Amino acid sequence: MFDSNSCIICNDSISDPVCKNCYIKQIKILLNDLKMHPMAKEIILGKVKNKFPIETLNDIDCILCKQENVDLCYYCFSINLNNILRGLNLTEELIRDFGFNPMHETYLESKINIG
Ligand SMILES: [Zn+2]
Ligand SMILES: [Zn+2]
Repeated sequence: MFDSNSCIICNDSISDPVCKNCYIKQIKILLNDLKMHPMAKEIILGKVKNKFPIETLNDIDCILCKQENVDLCYYCFSINLNNILRGLNLTEELIRDFGFNPMHETYLESKINIG
């Protein structure tokens, strides 16, 4: 069955759809709040823009701008973003400060287990 309201990566239905542009806006604000180096900002934003799919068959409107279609759920977006940030060797603290961390509890658990 074709479900046009599902995430293109994990296939789960998207409950609070937010489009890529709105996520990027949020990330820009966070980068300013975190007082990141302008160069680091450029690199992060460039990677986020390249990494996420542009074309979508979905017809779910973004709840924020109501203009763009949404093709990724929050969970998959967070995982992608965290992978980008880790790839840039940002510290876990900084990645956590972004607030896009679906693995938060698991991460803490694994840290406790490792000691
Ligand atoms: Zn997903
Ligand atoms: Zn939007």
